Amino acid sequence: MKSASQIRQEFLDFFQEKGHTIVSSASLIPHNDPTLIFTNAGMNQFKDVFLGTGTRTYHRAADSQKCIRVSGKHNDLEEVGRDTYHHTFFEMLGNWSFGDYYKKEAIAWAWELLTGRWGLPKDKLYATVYQTDEEAESLWKQVTDILPDHIMRFGEKDNFWEMGDTGPCGPCSEIHIDLGPERCDKGHIPGHVCGVNAGCARYIELWNLVFIQYNRKGDGSLEELPAKHVDTGMGFERIVSVLQGQRSNYDIDLFRRIIQGIEEVTGQSYAKAEHQVAMRVIADHIRALTFAIADGALPSNDGRGYVLRRILRRAARFGRTLGMTEPFLYRVIPHLAEAMGAAYPELLQQQAHCELVNKAEEEGFNRTLDKGIELFESIAARLAAAGETTVAGEDAFKLYDTYGFPLDLTQLMAEERGLTVDLDGFDREMENQRNKARQSGKFTMAEDQTRWETLAEEAHSVFRGYEVLETPARLCL
Ligand code: ATP
Ligand code: MG
Ligand code: MG
Ligand code: MG
Repeated sequence: MKSASQIRQEFLDFFQEKGHTIVSSASLIPHNDPTLIFTNAGMNQFKDVFLGTGTRTYHRAADSQKCIRVSGKHNDLEEVGRDTYHHTFFEMLGNWSFGDYYKKEAIAWAWELLTGRWGLPKDKLYATVYQTDEEAESLWKQVTDILPDHIMRFGEKDNFWEMGDTGPCGPCSEIHIDLGPERCDKGHIPGHVCGVNAGCARYIELWNLVFIQYNRKGDGSLEELPAKHVDTGMGFERIVSVLQGQRSNYDIDLFRRIIQGIEEVTGQSYAKAEHQVAMRVIADHIRALTFAIADGALPSNDGRGYVLRRILRRAARFGRTLGMTEPFLYRVIPHLAEAMGAAYPELLQQQAHCELVNKAEEEGFNRTLDKGIELFESIAARLAAAGETTVAGEDAFKLYDTYGFPLDLTQLMAEERGLTVDLDGFDREMENQRNKARQSGKFTMAEDQTRWETLAEEAHSVFRGYEVLETPARLCL
């Protein structure tokens, strides 16, 4: 069986043979792009080339890009753990043409790699095109031997790719694979019919070929770019799981090594069905946390830092279901570094720093996590006794404000019990607190930092060593 590292290398070699320059992954923290919290696609680092404001010495490039999709237009946090092919952090394999080749070569080479080099069964592959893209549709028929009735047209939602609300964009053509009826995970949903873009695990999207020809402007209008470009993205963990014949991305060699690390650290077994979701979530989240921290991000109370804090708290809470009452995520980091450090040396260079930051965050949250879980349990019991199913906004706010439970964590715990959270009520509580803070004139920081700042005092005395890492206001919990 080919390893994940081999498959990554084969992708890069293939495009190098086709005249592409192999470039490094850009940082997860987008530089000079205020429209993005995290790098969410391979094309981000080339945005300036597409917009015509920057140039490169090459016209063709390929790479494996670190991506995080937990905010903005591309937010997959809710899928993680629930399905087996969306991650918060993943690698996107990509090839680009900057005003050089266009649809024909992009389609022909994708097909050649998947079916020729890698031998995927042609009759299991489907190609989608944008509803009005006759050119792409006829190219699929001309330059590949895909079954003609496996070429399908879709609308904006699936076949017009945009990185965010603004920026380079264009019609796209995607390659999906039919993994067989037994892989459907939506059979329990009334009316579900398996199909391309139907959202179940039977038909999985592997590769998106985007034909960049527009810039979406702030007012929503599309402007023609000075040149036409190709921007492709293939989910690395997905193609590896297909090529390794696995049922889940988490079963590929790379993830198994991380999961083995989690087994070692927690003393629990992944073979036990009741541990699998937690272990997958932890394996996913530790990658997002460590890669982001290695690239210079830090958990905090707003923006990017709060996204990390939310991810860490979810992971810590799943750790409780594995019996981990002491900080443990940081102990998984060496296993991750071992699994991925060769491809991403920054993991090795920053390993000690990542462990330190994770441990401090975990220690902070651990102090309120158990009390928060207790409170949640009592709320759930009260609701069950009353035959109700909605967690009051006040309760969710108390969990947030006093125990540091991000709203999405409370929602997740509620959902596990078949409960929902009164989001409007939560917003009202938040607004009340802001008003109070404004009136008292005490707090001048971003609103949702008020409570944290108070708790931070306590955190300092314990975690003095980390003051050098971050400004005190952000050190808390
Ligand atoms: P999906 O429809 O499966 O959510 P997408 O259409 O949002 O994927 P693209 O923006 O087209 O994804 O990204 C290019 C490729 O990256 C996808 O074809 C897929 O293979 C992979 N990919 C996208 N999101 C994720 C994720 N959260 N985890 C792992 N791989 C992903
Ligand atoms: Mg998506
Ligand atoms: Mg899609
Ligand atoms: Mg797509």
